[in-house]
Amino acid sequence: MPATLDPPSRPAPVTPTPPTPAATEQPRPHAHHHHERITVTWADIDWWHFTPIALMHAACLAAPFYFSWSGVALAVFLWWACGGLGICLCYHRLLTHRSFKTPKPVEYFLTVLGVLNWQGGPIEWVGMHRLHHKHSDGEEDPHSPKHGFNWAHVLWVVTKYRGNVPPQDAAKDLARDPFLRFIDKYHWAPQIGLAALLYGLGQWAGGLGLSWVVWGVCIRMVVTYHITWFVNSASHTWGYRSHDTDDDSRNLWWVALLSFGEGWHNNHHAHQRAAAHGRRWWEIDPTYLTIVAMSWVGLAKDIVRPGR
Ligand SMILES: [Zn+2]
Ligand SMILES: [Zn+2]
Repeated sequence: MPATLDPPSRPAPVTPTPPTPAATEQPRPHAHHHHERITVTWADIDWWHFTPIALMHAACLAAPFYFSWSGVALAVFLWWACGGLGICLCYHRLLTHRSFKTPKPVEYFLTVLGVLNWQGGPIEWVGMHRLHHKHSDGEEDPHSPKHGFNWAHVLWVVTKYRGNVPPQDAAKDLARDPFLRFIDKYHWAPQIGLAALLYGLGQWAGGLGLSWVVWGVCIRMVVTYHITWFVNSASHTWGYRSHDTDDDSRNLWWVALLSFGEGWHNNHHAHQRAAAHGRRWWEIDPTYLTIVAMSWVGLAKDIVRPGR
């Protein structure tokens, strides 16, 4: 199969290309052996991923100079709408795990909120997350802290993909939907439109264009990045375990608070399809409460309950 990927003009290599370290790994009966910290060099950087993320972080340096209370309010609102509804509720609980059903137009609208975080299109994101569940904290987990905390937090995002299976292969059900295919291909575009809209509205509101863009796009997105990444890094490192799962997932209250309930991550790994990630009364799960509220007005049905 890899041979067919060579350009036709290139002669077939005499010796096979050296296998990547991951390719030489045989499947192991237990996922918990032999984890080496992954070291990253500049040659590993995926510039299409690294550049926008780096630029957004750099733009945060301008935030104090473009401060406005309306900009802060906008950032909070868009953090909830794009991060809370777009990533936690839609990308994760709806598209990845199918924890509930919602009418297609609602699903598509929520997916557009998801792409506004520049975390990739829904097909790639969902595929990657399903690979995480399939190989949780094993050699082939795309982002396990066993390969290093910083690797699980951010380095896996900004470096070239190392896995054997393209993430898209784990989301073929989504790829059958023409709209999801379309928005996956142009996932970067709506953000440009949002930034232009915020700039125009901000200018119209009184010279606040740059403030609304810096706070509503850059700050808001950097905050959302790190909260999402903390689910992968911190919630596999610190916290308590309610379930004896075959991975290192943990329930971590401060990640749960920041991520609309996603930090009850050990509960989630134990019951992956369950719509509710919080199980005890104090494990507050705003994303699940939103799904319940949606069901009251007919926007959510067939909500998957935990097994026990
Ligand atoms: Zn996990
Ligand atoms: Zn999940």
